[in-house]
Amino acid sequence: GSKQLYLGMDFGTSGARYVLVDKQGTIHSERKRTYPLPLVGNTIHWASSWRETLFSLLEDIPLSLRQYIASISIDGTSATTLIIDRPFLYNESLPDALPIVTSIAPENHTVCSGSSTLCKLVSWWNSNNSNKGSAVLMHQSDWLLWLLHGKFGISDYNNALKVGYDPETDSYPSWLLAQPFSYLLPSVEAPGSPIGCMKEDIRLRFGFPKGCVVCTGTTDSIAAFLAARATQPGRAVTSLGSTLAIKLLSTSRIEDARFGVYSHRLDDKWLVGGASNTGGAVLRQIFTDDQLEVLSSQIDPLVPSPLDYYPLPAPGERFPVADPNMMPRLHPLPESRVEYLHGILESIARIEAKGYKLLKELGATEVEEVFTAGGGAKNQVWMKIRERVLGLPVHRASQTEAAYGAALLALKGVGLQN
Ligand code: ADP
Repeated sequence: GSKQLYLGMDFGTSGARYVLVDKQGTIHSERKRTYPLPLVGNTIHWASSWRETLFSLLEDIPLSLRQYIASISIDGTSATTLIIDRPFLYNESLPDALPIVTSIAPENHTVCSGSSTLCKLVSWWNSNNSNKGSAVLMHQSDWLLWLLHGKFGISDYNNALKVGYDPETDSYPSWLLAQPFSYLLPSVEAPGSPIGCMKEDIRLRFGFPKGCVVCTGTTDSIAAFLAARATQPGRAVTSLGSTLAIKLLSTSRIEDARFGVYSHRLDDKWLVGGASNTGGAVLRQIFTDDQLEVLSSQIDPLVPSPLDYYPLPAPGERFPVADPNMMPRLHPLPESRVEYLHGILESIARIEAKGYKLLKELGATEVEEVFTAGGGAKNQVWMKIRERVLGLPVHRASQTEAAYGAALLALKGVGLQN
């Protein structure tokens, strides 16, 4: 048909959302839901919660639009993993498995963290004696997509990075394949690849059209980057939320464990990222959101602030300075609150600039243009300060929802057909 819509769903930490777009990227419908928290004994049954939310969101899509949905993709929180029906959450750390993982993986590999997918797999493997033969490892979004298409064991190379998949060679490394649990590893496709048609029972239950295609997903932070449509190397997204996170599209892959810098693959390019502990959390310790607005409007963004701070909510920094003992620096305290905020905003902008400079020094494509997401993106004065400090054009991203990025993956998955 001529009218086609593409459905993206984002499963974040506190809730889930869908966005329905057309080929031009115009939004036709969207809705957010928080997770119900079903208890089994004393523990929350997360998998049921996600499943229930998935089906509630599908019910939320206006009936009149469902018949036009050509494809679906879903993103989930990174390293949130299920092994059959035992979910491991993104923030769950399995330090007992870390020594084993460190002994099998190369030094400083992404999987060498207590919360990595591989640590979850090793921990499960060592504590579980039954049912191993029929087990499969699925990331949160693999599992949700599986509920829709019904084919076992398919993932994408963004989700699979933290289990050890090598996106450069497009394969699992030999040290991982040599492990007895390697048969649990899913097969891996590019994000936004068609997996198959939606299962008939689901299709009929919700009124989706015949041939509705389910596509591989990605992680939530990559989906949020995709939403900004910064599709050229040199384009970047700075996320000004509680922390300051930067993501830059690069033609080269860079990794540096000291700074927590690593690269995700995006087709023939690399999404390079780093995250500083500075950001909105410090602002919130000092100002209310209303004060931020009022005081910001009294700052002249064209005048540099002489105040040189390093705002941190607590001691410790990783990127662009790797120093776990670094102390926050928020002195001298000027006479006026306006000057104080000006100094803080300008100092955070300098940390942002230093971050992009470090990525370049580590070998990434030089940044040319910056889009902004997160709570700090609405601050126009800060944007002007950042333009001056970065010496680059800075814009607010027009779309920042991860679900929008997932919808673009759904569009990509069937894009060549029409
Ligand atoms: P997260 O999702 O990481 O918790 P958000 O993206 O919701 O964060 O952004 C919230 C942050 O935005 C808060 O820490 C707050 O200090 C900051 N913020 C809110 N309003 C402004 C503003 N006008 N200028 C700068 N920062 C702001």
